This record gives sequence, structure tokens and C-alpha cells, in this order.
Amino acid sequence: MKEIVIMSGKGGTGKTSITAALGALAGSKAVMADCDVDAANLHLLFDPQVEHEEDFYSGKKAVIDYDLCTDCGICEEKCAFDAIHWQDGRVVINDVSCEGCSVCFHLCPVDAIRMEDNLAGKWYRAKSRFDNPFVYAHLGIGQENSGKLVSKVKQEAKKVAEELQRPFIFVDGPPGVGCPVISSLSNADHILIVTEATESGLHDLQRLVELTEYFKLSASCVINKNDLNEESDRAISAFCREHNIPVVERIPFHPAFYETLEQGKTLIESDNKEIIAKIEHIYQYLTKGE
Ligand code: SF4
Ligand code: SF4
Repeated sequence: MKEIVIMSGKGGTGKTSITAALGALAGSKAVMADCDVDAANLHLLFDPQVEHEEDFYSGKKAVIDYDLCTDCGICEEKCAFDAIHWQDGRVVINDVSCEGCSVCFHLCPVDAIRMEDNLAGKWYRAKSRFDNPFVYAHLGIGQENSGKLVSKVKQEAKKVAEELQRPFIFVDGPPGVGCPVISSLSNADHILIVTEATESGLHDLQRLVELTEYFKLSASCVINKNDLNEESDRAISAFCREHNIPVVERIPFHPAFYETLEQGKTLIESDNKEIIAKIEHIYQYLTKGE
């Protein structure tokens, strides 16, 4: 089984459009995983039938038992995260601000505070309209620890691929280079970096390549909107050459990217034969030898 993670240093490079199109081409052969848990959107193109959904808990939150609380105010005074406020004569904890540090729990003189598991999001196992087994998740508003939820999505995708003996997992990775990105890289077999021909595209590519080199991962690159800026296109190509990263495809700017998104379709369903051929070429490159 080969796990391929599709990454980009930032949003808007066409990463999800390309991932969705790869999934549409692969059909039941590939398990799809959406690890962009802060802003999951692959499901909007996949119209999935959910087969299983589960709450995702991470960290703790403080909860007050008002039958025991004596309104002494110690917790409000000591909370370093300003998560406790007076409201209508009683202390109230703001769930979004509470960091789960437990200080209030330890200091409450009458044990009126308990620490409860924090419901941080939900994950789903589903089947996409292209017959892909599909794992995705939503992180709750204001929740952190998206790296843990990314790991959960990856674990479940791997489990499904093993159970169903599917040769590929395609992972839509989160943008950037933070903790969720590092989680999404773990145990990957190959990283496809989607960048665009701009100065920031080059900068983001450099940061991602630093990570892939650090983790000794094989990587390749797609330059989307390669006709935006010739100089950036040349600089990206030169950087890839220096770092032994094959440029699998160059895709000129095309409205098919946003038109298909607006229609809830993948690039494979567009009427642009040139783009379809380029996606097919990327797919063949990623799946060769399997
Ligand atoms: S657990 Fe920590 S952050 Fe949360 S309310 Fe109590 S003291 Fe504040
Ligand atoms: S420390 Fe305990 S008793 Fe005092 S206000 Fe907070 S919850 Fe109530």
C-alpha cells in the first residue's frame, strides 16, 4: 500500500482540486483522506455516503457544578487564560477560552469544578460518489489539537485500506508547515507538492521541501498556474532540480479550477481535455509500479 500526501504551503494553489481529481480517477482503488481538518472541503466534491461517524475528544475542559459552588470567586481570580467571568452573580466558564490547565479544579475549595473530556470534533468513514472509501473530519470551532485529529484520520484511512486491501491512500494535506502538516507527513510514502508560479509559491515550496528532506520523504512537484509569472516558474524549476524533486506537471492558469469547484465537480468532470490529460499524467506518475 502506498500513501501519497498532497501538500501545499498555503491555500489557493489548487491542491484540493487536484486531490479530488486523483480520487475520481482512482475510484475504489484509493482510500481518500481529508486531513485539512480545520477547513475540510473534499466532501463537498465527493458527496459521500456516511457509513460511520464518531466524536473526537482531545484535552479537558473545566465544568462547574453550581449545586456545590459557593461563589467565592477564587477560580475567576486564578484562571490565567481569562476563561472565567462573573455573569448574573455567578462564575461562568467560557469553553472556547478554557485551556484545560486544571488550576481552577485544584484550587476550588469545595470541589465544585470537574475536568471533562473535551469534544473537539467529529470524524467520518464514508464512501465517495466515485466509490472511494473516504475518511474525513471536522474540527470544532475554536478547537486546537488539529494535529491529533489529522493523525486520527490517517490512522483510520490506513485501517480501511488494510481491511479492504486497497493499493493507495491519497491524503489531502493541511496547508502550511505547522503541527497538522507534520502529522500528515508521518509514515507517508510520497509527497506531492502543489505550488503556483509566484514568489510566495516558491517560498512555501522551500519550506515544505525542508520538511520532506528532514523526514527523508520522497517528493515531487506540480506547478499550477505556471504561466502567472515566468521568472517564478523558472526559479521553482531550478529549486526543484537542485533538490532532486521531479516536476511532474506544469498547469497553466485555467478557469476550470474554480468553475468545477463552483459546480461541486472534480477537474476530471470538466470539459477541458488538456487539464484532464495533465491530471491523468500526474495520476500515472504517482501510481506507477503498483
Ligand atoms: S481549566 Fe484552566 S483555563 Fe480552564 S477555566 Fe480552569 S483555570 Fe481557566
Ligand atoms: S472556586 Fe469553586 S466555589 Fe469558588 S467560585 Fe469557583 S467554582 Fe465556585
